[in-house]
Amino acid sequence: MKSPLDLSTVELSRRGLLVGAGMLTGAAALGFDALSASPASAAGAILWPNGTTTRPAISSPFGQRPKPNQGASSDHKGTDFVGFSIVRAVADGVVVAAGIPGGWEPGGTQVWIQHDGFLTRSLHMVAGSLAVSPNQTVHAGDVIGTMGATGNVTGVHLHLEVVVGGVQIDPVPFLTARVGGTPQPDPVRGVKEFAVRGGSWSAIPVGYNMSNRFTAVNMGSGWGDLYGSFGGHLRYVGVMGGAWTQMDSGLPLDAYSISALNVGQSFPHIFAVENSVLYHIYADGTGWHKASTGLTVPGKISAVLLPGGNVQIVANIGGYMHHITTHNGWEIGNSGIPIGDEFKAVNVGGMLQIVTLLNGVVHLIWPGAGWQLQSTGIGTSGSLTAVDMGGGYPTVITNEGWSVCVTSVSGGGWVRQSTGVAVSGTIDALNIGGGYPTVYAV
Ligand SMILES: [Zn+2]
Repeated sequence: MKSPLDLSTVELSRRGLLVGAGMLTGAAALGFDALSASPASAAGAILWPNGTTTRPAISSPFGQRPKPNQGASSDHKGTDFVGFSIVRAVADGVVVAAGIPGGWEPGGTQVWIQHDGFLTRSLHMVAGSLAVSPNQTVHAGDVIGTMGATGNVTGVHLHLEVVVGGVQIDPVPFLTARVGGTPQPDPVRGVKEFAVRGGSWSAIPVGYNMSNRFTAVNMGSGWGDLYGSFGGHLRYVGVMGGAWTQMDSGLPLDAYSISALNVGQSFPHIFAVENSVLYHIYADGTGWHKASTGLTVPGKISAVLLPGGNVQIVANIGGYMHHITTHNGWEIGNSGIPIGDEFKAVNVGGMLQIVTLLNGVVHLIWPGAGWQLQSTGIGTSGSLTAVDMGGGYPTVITNEGWSVCVTSVSGGGWVRQSTGVAVSGTIDALNIGGGYPTVYAV
């Protein structure tokens, strides 16, 4: 990777570009209403690790304690639960580790799951009992393994850790406040902008909330424009008049998946899946509109704009990549190529390329003589996105919970590098200049 640049002057020039930009008056004309306050974060469907809303017995709480045995930590980073056998996921999420991760041998057989806004680690389970594997999507209450005594323990128990922003917190008050909560399809959290600043990667909260099902689009303002739905409406977070702001479009939308494109107009064209229908969302002089494409798409999507105004959309339907085009009205075809739940379609020098996480390994899909699928050989996990930074291949960004990693082609092969900075939640990335991707995390 190139050595990080000092982007301070670049960012200053971006700020100068923004003031007085024509789209600001356009936004007001289209009836955006600024939100007076950010809504409170909503709890998802959360259960105790026994799969119920009744807390299991605790044998050792979080925090300082006498060493239970030689080699055990006296600073207890989790809660030990006893009195049940089948260990279950406490919330919806994606498995990021299953087995004995390197450096975590004292924890025995374990499962790590990235949830919306937090990571859980379940330790000391029975070897061979794990019911999940990396990159698998799980739901609250799903069986993940059997309580055991593997690793450095004094008896059978579940050591459960809850990690928020890279830090282990006390699981009991965290779960107590959330167990039994009404399921929310669109968890809402604070937005962070993650970029190379002053020569190194850092994440900065922008001060506004967004759904974790969001899309970032480069409208040329110098910052990302973020669109997502929560509270039943299409919402916007972006920079206006030199400051981050959040607005409600007023357009009813409860998107399962969303993807925005800059088609050279003041506002992006947005594609969104709502109740398994693919919608085309756009703005004109009278406001925002939502038009059905007539296509049934029960899965995630990622849209891309190719030269000549050619919109193409990639969808994961039943684990296979589907390709949506507009040659004669909206058309959808099954490529027959497997695709993971984490994927991103990218315009790489005018060519559609798709990056996806399959069985914990980054794969590349592209059209050649038929659709081609190739492994990069790079193992990773968590939320995935990709962006064209030049060089003929997409640059892949993954949020592995403990670090954001950048995978790109360097010296003729795929290379994965950790940025050393952790942000929780889902990510999207843009090429806004400066030689490095700008990443947004919710
Ligand atoms: Zn413990």
